[in-house]
Amino acid sequence: MALLDTRSTDDLTDEALADLSARFETASAGEIVAWAVERFHPQICLAASMTDAVLIDVAVAVEPAIEVVFIDTGYHFTETMETLEKVRRRYGLNLRIMTVPHYQVPLWQSDPVNCCSAAKVFQLERALVGKVAWMSGLRRQESDTRREAAIVSRDRRGLVKVNPLANWSDLDVEGYIADHDVPVNPLLLKGYPSIGCWPCTRPVRPGEEARSGRWVGQAKTECGLHDEFEQHDEFEQHDEFEQEELHS
Ligand code: SF4
Repeated sequence: MALLDTRSTDDLTDEALADLSARFETASAGEIVAWAVERFHPQICLAASMTDAVLIDVAVAVEPAIEVVFIDTGYHFTETMETLEKVRRRYGLNLRIMTVPHYQVPLWQSDPVNCCSAAKVFQLERALVGKVAWMSGLRRQESDTRREAAIVSRDRRGLVKVNPLANWSDLDVEGYIADHDVPVNPLLLKGYPSIGCWPCTRPVRPGEEARSGRWVGQAKTECGLHDEFEQHDEFEQHDEFEQEELHS
């Protein structure tokens, strides 16, 4: 792929992004990440959920210094935080943890409507300041609502969004994990194929959609991080948010 000016996205019209996305359908995840790194690094980050470290494994092989963002809502499972530490040490990550301050009454209890917006979306907004692009490990097979996910697109901020694993199947992921000995969240083996915050995540039965255990009993299917799949309401600003940055 031709070398282009880095960090400028002026040439990436919606049509150009759609064309790239179509061309990337037959590219490897490593090739897609390499394109993104060549174009945008260091003004690109990778948003990680710590369900598994497949995209991290692919990305650090291309650029070991790529910034990996993890949003610590304060409501993660213990297993997720342990996976974060394991992955950080395994890869020596340039890790940035966005931290939500402690609330006397947890947000998911006191303000469940705005909890995701405040604890997740607002933190991502902060993490993306100064960036022109970001990557995520979302895949089409995770849910019906994600089946049209593009490999490259523009988000509502105008940033380029790259989903190098968009067309990977569950079997592709399992095979990569086995072949590369990739760290996974132990909850994956306990019926949690999609892992969010503990108050809003339940295990699923074999054959059920991976994300069907998220926000059970609610109409909600997305937290708002991947805004191409939903319109989320404006949320209240929480000025007291703090951030902790770890660089190893
Ligand atoms: S998933 Fe639940 S606990 Fe986590 S930020 Fe969203 S509403 Fe809050």
